[in-house]
Amino acid sequence: MSVPLPHHVVIVGAGFGGLSVAHALAGAPVRITIIDQRNHHLFQPLLYQVGTATLATSEIAWPVRHLLRKRREIVTLLGAVNGIDHAARTVRLEDGGEIPYDTLVLATGARHAYFGRDEWEQFAPGLKTLEDATSIRRRILLSLERAERESDPVKRAALLNFVIVGAGPTGVELAGAIAELAHQNLPGEFRHIDTRRARVLLVEAGPRILPSFTADLSAYAHAALTRLGVEIHLDKPVSECSARGVIFGGEFLAAKTILWAAGVRASPAAAWLDAPADGAGRVRVETDLTAPGHPEIFVIGDTAPIEAWRGKPVPGSAPAAKQQGVHVAAAIARRCAGEHAPRPFRYRHSGNLATIGKRSAVIDFGWVKVRGNLAWWIWGIAHIYFLIGVRNRLAVALSWLWIFLSGSRSACLITQGESRPKAR
Ligand SMILES: Cc1cc2nc3c(=O)[nH]c(=O)nc-3n(C[C@H](O)[C@H](O)[C@H](O)COP(=O)(O)OP(=O)(O)OC[C@H]3O[C@@H](n4cnc5c(N)ncnc54)[C@H](O)[C@@H]3O)c2cc1C
Repeated sequence: MSVPLPHHVVIVGAGFGGLSVAHALAGAPVRITIIDQRNHHLFQPLLYQVGTATLATSEIAWPVRHLLRKRREIVTLLGAVNGIDHAARTVRLEDGGEIPYDTLVLATGARHAYFGRDEWEQFAPGLKTLEDATSIRRRILLSLERAERESDPVKRAALLNFVIVGAGPTGVELAGAIAELAHQNLPGEFRHIDTRRARVLLVEAGPRILPSFTADLSAYAHAALTRLGVEIHLDKPVSECSARGVIFGGEFLAAKTILWAAGVRASPAAAWLDAPADGAGRVRVETDLTAPGHPEIFVIGDTAPIEAWRGKPVPGSAPAAKQQGVHVAAAIARRCAGEHAPRPFRYRHSGNLATIGKRSAVIDFGWVKVRGNLAWWIWGIAHIYFLIGVRNRLAVALSWLWIFLSGSRSACLITQGESRPKAR
């Protein structure tokens, strides 16, 4: 009699959700294949620090293969999934490959969205990948380099206008970090421009910044950002982005650097599954995180909306994706043990955090709110704790300490693409 092969779990996406499934399946009687279109797991919460020349790329990303090297039952594959054949139970890859599965976990996350104006992306890039971060860093630094050589005051002003669209945590963090870079870290390094005169504008369509935080924390963050020199424009929806600048609240501002932090759209998992999706393209999953009509397929993290936070929607966050990963791993392990009854996922909220520059932050734990310098320390310690590996924790802590003490950023590197400022 042939020995049955162990149950094959295929995980698509090695982000917070996918890796958490792999980790939590340790010891279960399964073999696992994890597929990602990139070879690294990325710590997105610190991505803005790569974009603003604080951290190096290798401090916030790790090769997936290396992370899972000790788990002999896991095969790591580099590949982009572009479809699923439910009847044959296979995952299709862009290069034509096919991977069969018994259980499939889709943890493919989300990307920034432009509310139907995808053509804005070339003028107003968003922040989601390491490439996005280094390209944003390049845009910011190149604008300053070009301004240094620009004699026309109107063109120079456009080069020194930095507009961030969207005042959620990412927009607030980007705005604070760019203001510090231009106003505090770089002034001594340029001769023809005063980088302290760079304008950093945070533009928001809604009535306040950090809308997912309570009104008092949002007001505190508003005041702290203003002190850093960020100009905040509320109730001003953006109606145009172009190579010349941006129109918000009906008015045009010439700006060569526009950054997008205003909206996200889920991966195309709903289309692969032919499943119902919400307005952001996320798969409407069952309460146990399975795809409708497909108990063998789980969808987790940013690519699945679920109202499992005491009836409220679960936020798109790293802890939420990780908790869903643990829930799914437990469900798979129970099924392998013969128990098939679905159990609903319940989210436990650990708090909302956002930092404003390198000295202030706001934190809402629900039962207590913290703000200012103490909140920044809690934010910093929490982020260092969640980084993977002692070397990275030390490297990030040292980079922060160095900037804090010396005020200089060692990661001000213009890389990728056209590396020299073009002659006018
Ligand atoms: C700039 C930024 C800052 C953030 N800050 C915070 C924060 O401070 N705190 C917090 O809790 N959350 C934060 N988040 C949100 C958090 O990072 C996400 O909620 C979390 O990463 C979601 O996990 P996930 O597993 O669903 O997706 P991800 O972690 O995004 O992982 C998705 C993975 O799927 C892979 N993938 C996608 N499509 C395919 C495909 N077709 N084929 C193969 N692989 C594919 C991707 O390469 C990626 O590795 C931030 C996000 C961003 C972008």
